[in-house]
Amino acid sequence: MMGAHHAASGAAAWVAVASTAPYTLGWYPVSPLGVVAGALVCAGAALAPDADHHDATIAHSLPPVSEVVCDAIGVLAGGHRNGTHSILGIAAFTVLAWAAGQVTLDTPWFGDLAIGAGLISVLLVAFAARALGLSGDSRLGAWTLAVALAGFITITAPTEWTWLPVAVGLGAAVHVVGDMLTTGGVPLLWPWEPRPPRWWSRRPVLKLVWRSGGNFALPVLGNAGSTREWIMVVPVGLYATYGVGVAIAVGVLTSLGLDADAVLLRFVEVASTVVGTVHTGGV
Ligand SMILES: [Zn+2]
Repeated sequence: MMGAHHAASGAAAWVAVASTAPYTLGWYPVSPLGVVAGALVCAGAALAPDADHHDATIAHSLPPVSEVVCDAIGVLAGGHRNGTHSILGIAAFTVLAWAAGQVTLDTPWFGDLAIGAGLISVLLVAFAARALGLSGDSRLGAWTLAVALAGFITITAPTEWTWLPVAVGLGAAVHVVGDMLTTGGVPLLWPWEPRPPRWWSRRPVLKLVWRSGGNFALPVLGNAGSTREWIMVVPVGLYATYGVGVAIAVGVLTSLGLDADAVLLRFVEVASTVVGTVHTGGV
């Protein structure tokens, strides 16, 4: 799967899980700021599993730091599309985010600052901003956005960072699932890479699901970057934009002292009436 598509899927997954707006799951509800910032962090985490080789686009996002980080991850994970694309890899990213969240600094002016969580988020938001083109192609733009957002949260709302391990784990899982939908598949059980018996590899459909190299796949999207992948990513991207847009609207309405829930409910009512009218008119 392509980088921007991984990032869009990560943002959409966070909206589905963390927002409480209509058409979301609301399994792990967070504040409107958490929905917006988490969507960017989760989008960045959905790129992180490909940080396992120094040729990756994200490896060039902050040279030489990002290149060193990507090389180190590649060595630890046994090369590209290995350890970072497994259940163990998802767990490792989650634990890393949790551990970073424990690193705090007591400052005289701002109190306890979650600098570990802030630094990890700078890296992830920069990945996302670059892949999603939020800052054009400018490397400086990506880093300005990342440092501004992570710095703002770390100083003004440090308790926001409690959701960081959830967003990182979800993003990494979304990446692995995304790659699993393409023909290459992923070594889900790494470092255990069981090979199928010879008779299995001769069956037409079975050989695509459990591949002779030991990877697992549900290749409904075909090859990475296929037309099907592009078609799937359009509604995914629109959904993420919708969720982030609602969160920004709720944040603005609440800060203006308005009842955001009532306003949104009214908006949904009006929207469904309009859709209903158009539908009935068409029939
Ligand atoms: Zn990948």
